[in-house]
Amino acid sequence: MTSPRYFPHHYLVRFLLLIFALQALTACGEKDKTYHAQLVSLGTLIDISIWNIKKDKADTVIHEIENRLNAVHQKWHAWNPGRLVEINKHLANGETVNLTTVEYEHLVLARDLAIASDHLFNPAIGKLITLWGFHSDDPPAPPPPAVREIRKLVAEAPNMQQLHFDALSLSSSNSEIELDLGGFAKGYAVDQAISILKNHGINNAIINAGGDLRAIGTHGNRPWRIGIRHPDGQGVIASITTNGDESVFTSGNYERYYDYQGERFHHIIDPRTGFPAKGTRSVTVIHSDGATADAAATALFVAGPDQWQKIARQMHISRVMLIDEHMNIHMTPEMAERIHFEQNIEKEIIITPVES
Ligand code: AMP
Ligand code: MG
Repeated sequence: MTSPRYFPHHYLVRFLLLIFALQALTACGEKDKTYHAQLVSLGTLIDISIWNIKKDKADTVIHEIENRLNAVHQKWHAWNPGRLVEINKHLANGETVNLTTVEYEHLVLARDLAIASDHLFNPAIGKLITLWGFHSDDPPAPPPPAVREIRKLVAEAPNMQQLHFDALSLSSSNSEIELDLGGFAKGYAVDQAISILKNHGINNAIINAGGDLRAIGTHGNRPWRIGIRHPDGQGVIASITTNGDESVFTSGNYERYYDYQGERFHHIIDPRTGFPAKGTRSVTVIHSDGATADAAATALFVAGPDQWQKIARQMHISRVMLIDEHMNIHMTPEMAERIHFEQNIEKEIIITPVES
């Protein structure tokens, strides 16, 4: 088991509390035949639940998952030395990089999700993320960067469409591109873990990466039931019962941030302004695969209360809950059908279909 690289202890404690809260939601009634395991990877706590499995088999599968997650984490880490850092160096030097098929597929997936999101999910803005201090093992700290520096990087306008793939060769027309795949890294990794489970014939399980998860099958004769964290950190705001094979991902302004002169500076950057996206506190997305759900949660967070419907439609996302800065809750009807609030909601709940 690896130790977290850039995951402060208090985050771990918060995740542990959340996960216990989530388990409390699922555990009730009949004798629970769920096998639980926890490991630290991807800079977070991973909670694995498998329904009705023998311990020997579970141990083997969990070992395989741990190895895969650690390999993915190391390879695609945004600043620790690894393959992504190497690729970024080549692109900055205007050089062509030869990719493996797996690397090609990962980057093409990131590009396609970015295009569908009108580049609000933009993994090419690594330089901005660095400028804001989020490429560090230490917690981000004030003051915010100089506006002049931010504007300079926004003017370089890096985006995923400037990546050119010629078979497995990658080059870029913009040497200011720095890839940071953190906006969908957990989703991608959780998908890998689920495919390992499926390859072992396991069809009833949850891979929960610090509150973001993919669930398959059921919990005995009941669906899996999972919790959504309140954006204030006050426990669980709502629960969702998953249906078949589904991912539930949340992006929030409470994950990595600092407060400075009464303003919150968090880790989700609006590529249009270069500043942390305004207007949203959290976005939760339900979708079949984790990578799309994760990228969409980030993109819809940036899109905010006025534009999320358009981006959700383009990304083929029908289940969305967006909590805005005033704590009003915006949802699609498809999400409203699935969500159960665990706390009194004092503000408005606004239900809009993505088609409108
Ligand atoms: P998430 O928690 O999934 O919303 O991802 C946030 C992480 O994605 C940040 O820590 C950055 O590494 C990266 N990121 C920030 N803003 C963006 C953006 N607009 N598009 C893509 N990735 C981003
Ligand atoms: Mg995301």
